[in-house]
Amino acid sequence: MNLKDFLKVMKDMGFNEVIVDNNSPLNEKIKLLNQINQEIQNCTKCDLHKNRKQAVLGEGNPNSPIMFIGEAPGEEEDKQGRPFVGRAGQLLTKAIETAGYKRSDVYIANINKCRPPNNRTPTIEEQEACFPYLKRQIEIINPSVLCLLGATAYRGIFKRETKITKERGSILDYEGKKVYITYHPAFVLRNPREEPTFFEDIKKALELAFK
Ligand code: SF4
Repeated sequence: MNLKDFLKVMKDMGFNEVIVDNNSPLNEKIKLLNQINQEIQNCTKCDLHKNRKQAVLGEGNPNSPIMFIGEAPGEEEDKQGRPFVGRAGQLLTKAIETAGYKRSDVYIANINKCRPPNNRTPTIEEQEACFPYLKRQIEIINPSVLCLLGATAYRGIFKRETKITKERGSILDYEGKKVYITYHPAFVLRNPREEPTFFEDIKKALELAFK
C-alpha cells in the first residue's frame, strides 16, 4: 500500500499522527485489504465490470467491531470509488452520527463491488461471483457484528431470499458473528415514515457492537 492511501485510512480513523510499524496487526489488515482492492479493480468475474468506472472495495476502520453491508455501488460511489456516499449513504452516515458514533468508527462495504447498470439489483450469479471478496474482507476485519442493509445483503450472506420488512430488527448468527438486519437506506428514502425505525435499528446494531 502506498503511503498516501495508508495515511488516508489513518486520518479516516481519527489519527493525526502515526508511528509506522510495518508488522503491526493493523498495518497487516490494511495490506490485505489493499490487495483485495487491487484484485477487484482488475476483476472480470461477472458482467458488472463492463460498465464500472471503478470497483468500490469499502472503507472505514479495519479494526471496527461492526461492518455495515449494503448491496452495490450506485452512480456517486462508482464515480468517487467510495461506498455509501450518495443520498442513501448520507442517510446512513446521519443515522450513525445520531446514535453518537462517527462514520470512521465503522467499516462499510457492499455485496457487489461494481455498479450494476441503472442501479438494478445484482443477479444471484453476480452476487455469488463477488462474494469471495466480501468473505475475505469479513475475515480480515473480523467484526463481532454485521449489520445487513436490505434484502440483497441478507441474501448475499445467508443465501436465501427474505422479505426485509419481516426480518428487520432480528439478530441472527453468521459464523459466530451477530447479524443485525435492517432496511437499506435507499428504501428509507422512498419510505420516509420508516426513518425513525431505521435510526433506532442502526443505534441498536452499534450498541451491540460497541457495548
Ligand atoms: S462485481 Fe465483483 S465479481 Fe463482478 S466484476 Fe466487479 S469485482 Fe468482479
